[in-house]
Amino acid sequence: MKAKVQLAEGGKQVVSQSGPHMNGMTSVITSLQIHPGCSMLVSLRLVNPETLGLRAHYAFATSLSGRLGAMAHCGGQAIVIGASMGGLLAARAVAEHYDRVTVIERDELPEAPEPRKGVPQGRHLHALLARGREGLEQLFPGLTEELVAEGAVRGDSVEDVIWFNHGCCLCNTPSALVGLTMSRPFLENGVRRRLLRLPNICLRQRSEVEEPVFDHDQGRVAGVRVWSRAGADGVEALTADLVVDATGRGSRCAAWLNALGYAAPRVEKIEVGIGYMTRLYRRRPEQLNGMLGALFAACRPDWRVGVIAAQEGERWIVSLGGYLGDHPPADEEGFLEFARSLQKPDIFQVIREAEKLSPLMPYRFGTNLRRHYAELSRFPQGFLVYGDALCSFNPVYGQGMTVAIMESLALRQCLAAGTDDIARRFFRAADRLIDIPWQIAVGSDLQHPGVQGNRPARLRFFNWYIAQLFRAAQTDVVLTTRFLETLNLIRQPAALLAPRMALRVWSGNRRRARDPRPPVIRP
Ligand SMILES: Cc1cc2nc3c(=O)[nH]c(=O)nc-3n(C[C@H](O)[C@H](O)[C@H](O)COP(=O)(O)OP(=O)(O)OC[C@H]3O[C@@H](n4cnc5c(N)ncnc54)[C@H](O)[C@@H]3O)c2cc1C
Repeated sequence: MKAKVQLAEGGKQVVSQSGPHMNGMTSVITSLQIHPGCSMLVSLRLVNPETLGLRAHYAFATSLSGRLGAMAHCGGQAIVIGASMGGLLAARAVAEHYDRVTVIERDELPEAPEPRKGVPQGRHLHALLARGREGLEQLFPGLTEELVAEGAVRGDSVEDVIWFNHGCCLCNTPSALVGLTMSRPFLENGVRRRLLRLPNICLRQRSEVEEPVFDHDQGRVAGVRVWSRAGADGVEALTADLVVDATGRGSRCAAWLNALGYAAPRVEKIEVGIGYMTRLYRRRPEQLNGMLGALFAACRPDWRVGVIAAQEGERWIVSLGGYLGDHPPADEEGFLEFARSLQKPDIFQVIREAEKLSPLMPYRFGTNLRRHYAELSRFPQGFLVYGDALCSFNPVYGQGMTVAIMESLALRQCLAAGTDDIARRFFRAADRLIDIPWQIAVGSDLQHPGVQGNRPARLRFFNWYIAQLFRAAQTDVVLTTRFLETLNLIRQPAALLAPRMALRVWSGNRRRARDPRPPVIRP
């Protein structure tokens, strides 16, 4: 059998090749798609993986993508509900395994990077963690450069950012942690544009999914009922082999499950009662001592949060916030006073004289919320839940988008093994990767004495240890870098407890006790 593959310049090229009978076995390569926008994303549908002909293809294609072994064809039509970051990322994973993916979104999606109704948090500061940037690059190779070319600000997350917590700042040192700052709509637009370059993605805007369509005979979700405001208004049923709920924190999946006779998942909540106030300012590079951002984390004595970050268009975005009702006021003077009350004056110094580019914009975030779908013993086939609909974290830690990116990589891997038991496998994979960011968010929130929740001895020790580590890290580049790698979900928190690290923490703090400003320690 001869394999013939052609690559088209800048567009898709589909090569279909049927193999002859070999050794009495039939091998049929039904579709081999090469998506140049995705840097050699190859989908291969095959019948009989044992033939020589397939091996020839396999070797060839593997040299193109290095990932062909991870492909499996799972079905014809898939539907993703919601076209925010979660939905786009879910669609990216599903697109490798289904012939067509329709993403359904109730909003009209703006051409320009502007906030929209369905994603009200889009007006507020969104940090992309280093793990998220890396994952996005795996899903959309070259995206970092594209975003930077259009105005996103690239920097070093250790060298270019002020990190304040526990009454002190980490040291600033060159690192490999690439940070990318931009507004949330700018990032979402960039990801959407790349997704829509895939030939099998279709976007339906101004269409609201009312409920999934259930096939009672098969015990599976077989599509969705959609109410469309685009073109012909009215309710329509769309069929699908897979439906993914990426409708965010307000997902109605639990109610849908109940109505179909399934149990709803256990919900874990930690109330934080965060209130944010955000504003955009004109940015001059010399402000903030030439740094690209600063995070003043909630810590004793006042637990107030302040974040400032550079954005596309020579802008700063500033979000101030507080826990359990200690919210920044919506008036000019009150907002400035709140900034002045932070434990360091850096943000106040920038905003008291910077040109204002937006009104003050409020946001309330009540609870960390996690839905434990992985615990359910029964779940309809053909249906998944994704992104914030699974878990919504206190935004102060900037984790939600990065977790959605990691879920995309996990979903891709789960689908590569086919659709048998896919919900249980995906929910377990997602649960494992949610565990660490959840512990970071909830564990840190529980340092606040007013936040209600279980504080086992292990957590109290870990929080105490991290405060010690932070203090020692002021003058230790290794501790600083390892800590920020953990915060950026590149390393497991357990690595911070390794004996070598503990020794650095202990000796660093002993040195500090003798000399409050010892020199910075390098490896
Ligand atoms: C104030 C704030 C700040 C944040 N800051 C950060 C940060 O710094 N870094 C970070 O990584 N994360 C941050 N997050 C979290 C981040 O915004 C989310 O994790 C991310 O948007 C992924 O969410 P999602 O796509 O699952 O859901 P959402 O963003 O909530 O999107 C749901 C989408 O589904 C659509 N939809 C809903 N119902 C239907 C329906 N029935 N039919 C059709 N469409 C529907 C909505 O219109 C919307 O587009 C922050 C969150 C908040 C609230």
